[in-house]
Amino acid sequence: MAAMSDRATRAKAAVDVVTAFFARIQATADDPDALDFTFGNPHELALPGLTAAMQAQVEPRSVDWFAYKTSERLAQETVAAGLRTELALDFEPDDIAMTQGAFGALSLAFALLADAGDEVIIPVPGWFCYEPMLHAANLLPVRAALDPETFDLDVGAISRAIGPRTRLVVANSPANPTGRVYSQDTWQALADVLEQASRTHGRRIWLVSDEPYRRIRFDGIDFASPAASYPWTVIDYSYGKVLLAPGQRLGYLALSPLIPPAERDELRTALMPLGLAIGWGFPDAVMQYSVPALESVSLDMAELARKRDRLFGALVDAGVRVTRPEGTFYLWGEAPGGDAAGFCDALAARGVHVMPGTLFDQPRHFRMSLTATMETIDRALPDLAEVAAALSA
Ligand code: PLP
Repeated sequence: MAAMSDRATRAKAAVDVVTAFFARIQATADDPDALDFTFGNPHELALPGLTAAMQAQVEPRSVDWFAYKTSERLAQETVAAGLRTELALDFEPDDIAMTQGAFGALSLAFALLADAGDEVIIPVPGWFCYEPMLHAANLLPVRAALDPETFDLDVGAISRAIGPRTRLVVANSPANPTGRVYSQDTWQALADVLEQASRTHGRRIWLVSDEPYRRIRFDGIDFASPAASYPWTVIDYSYGKVLLAPGQRLGYLALSPLIPPAERDELRTALMPLGLAIGWGFPDAVMQYSVPALESVSLDMAELARKRDRLFGALVDAGVRVTRPEGTFYLWGEAPGGDAAGFCDALAARGVHVMPGTLFDQPRHFRMSLTATMETIDRALPDLAEVAAALSA
């Protein structure tokens, strides 16, 4: 008899390609010459504002400084005030559950809104952890393709993926891996579809808006949250991206203030007990105390834009088809010759490490992380151009 549960087997299988790639990249971790564009990890020392904010909270000011912490009130108040300004919606502190990053917030959303066996629609290409997380939660992922040319949200594809067992739709803007940012019109079209489908199936479909890259946008592009268009929305967020510190787990789940009052009240009362039930999903005390100071700390967006422009321009010059990122710190392109594995292997042989689209179920594409330094980008450009030329020939 197998030791692992069926859902553990499914969750593991859904992420096997990622863990195998992770192991391969780890093997290069000690190579000082490796040019690493794979995961969205920091490549420079932490932002000074981050360490200062944490240091200011380390020294205990009371005996319960490091006691069990659910959602700290000051953190909830700070997040609600920030969201009121950013999204122009009337969030209150009780709408906010502090979590271990967006990972924790998504787990909380799944526990809060879906029952075992419910279907959850996810974007493809999309973040590779949705599927394993859904399997681990005993939920069924259902894929809805993005537009294959523009990688815009394809509302028609979502509509076709909806069935009587659909409970949640996960949307992600700015989007990993494509860097696309969706418009208010797109969200309104999605809202219309979800409202109609909820009526048709006699069951409310909820929207989970996965927004960890919300503050990472280029060229002054507006951010629209679907929460403004569809009342039955919860938002998950992570500070790990904008602080470039994904190892310091901090994020939240926010209930839309537009959720009808009775349902909003019911969900609010469930946030704390479910945060506990998912395995004390609250962030560590020091991270929560740091929230007011961290609200204004950000990676250098001007420098990130310069890196985007340098890499995007060089790839275009090399004849590679790339989607110009509007947000996130990823660059998404089509592998020259159409075989991402071959492209990534040829680059890896030269010490340049790029993520193959196979991790996103897109074997013709690749993703590069702009968290690499400008120096790394400049050193990789000749190899990128030569490999692209060789494979396009
Ligand atoms: N959602 C998306 C789209 C992501 O890309 C990530 C991380 O890569 C997460 C959620 C999880 O974010 P965190 O690790 O900060 O919790």
